[in-house]
Amino acid sequence: MKFSVLGSGSKGNSIFVESGSTAILVDGGFSGREIAERLSRIDRDMSCLKAVFVTHEHHDHISGVGVVSRRCRVPVFANEGTFRGAGKRLTKLFKQSEFETGEAVSFDGLQIRSFAISHDTADPVGFVIDDGKSRLGICTDTGIPTRLISRRMAQCDALVVEFNHDPVMLKNGPYPQSLKQRVNSSQGHLSNSDGAGLLDSVIHDGLGHVVLAHLSETNNHPEIAYREAEKVVRDRLELSVLSISEQQRPTELFEI
Ligand SMILES: [Zn+2]
Ligand SMILES: [Zn+2]
Repeated sequence: MKFSVLGSGSKGNSIFVESGSTAILVDGGFSGREIAERLSRIDRDMSCLKAVFVTHEHHDHISGVGVVSRRCRVPVFANEGTFRGAGKRLTKLFKQSEFETGEAVSFDGLQIRSFAISHDTADPVGFVIDDGKSRLGICTDTGIPTRLISRRMAQCDALVVEFNHDPVMLKNGPYPQSLKQRVNSSQGHLSNSDGAGLLDSVIHDGLGHVVLAHLSETNNHPEIAYREAEKVVRDRLELSVLSISEQQRPTELFEI
C-alpha cells in the first residue's frame, strides 16, 4: 500500500491511498483543481481514483468531494449522519454509498473500517484501511483520544494522527474565546500531547510511518508537534518514521 497526505489543516484535508490498481481518497477538502494539482505532484492522476471516503461533513474535508465524484465517476462513501449533516454540499454525486459506523466496507480489494471519534459533527469517523498486506490508520478531528480509537489504531503499519495545537499557543493566541473553547472541547481537536498520548498507546515495532496531521497554522508549530511525537518514538523506533503533513503541499508517497 502507498499513501500520501495531500494536505492537512483547517484549510483543507485529503489523503491519497493506493494499493495495486485501486486508489481512493479519504476526504477531499480542496477544490477539484487543487486535488488534481496535488496528485500530479506525487505523479498520480485523478483518473486513477476509484472512490472517496468521507470522515465528516466539515468544509475542510468535503469541499471538493462532489467535483471529484462527478469528474471521476466514482462513489462517495460516508455514513448516514455525514450525508445528512452535509446536506446540499454532498448531493449531485456520481453515486452515494452509505456505510454504518463501525462496519468494514470491502471495496476493490481494500477493507475499509470506520470507527467513531469525538467531534462536533453528526457522526464523525476515523478509518483503518487494510489491503491484506498492510494497514493504515487515520484519525484526525477528534477532541479526545478514546479507548476505541486506540484499539482501532493499534497494529497498523502506518498512522496519520492529529497533532492540532499547542495548548499554550491556543490559550494566548488570537482565536475568539468561543473558538478556543470549541478547539479545546471533547468534540474539538487533539492537542500535541493528546496526539502523543494516542501514539504512545499504539506504538509497536512494526510501525513504519507516523504522519502528524491537522496541525493548526495559528496555534501550533511543526517543531513543537514534532518534539512531542519524538518523546514517544525515541528509544523505541527510528525517528525517521516521523513525518509532518502540511497545509500547502503533499507529503511524499509513503510505502508500507
Ligand atoms: Zn478538519
Ligand atoms: Zn472537523
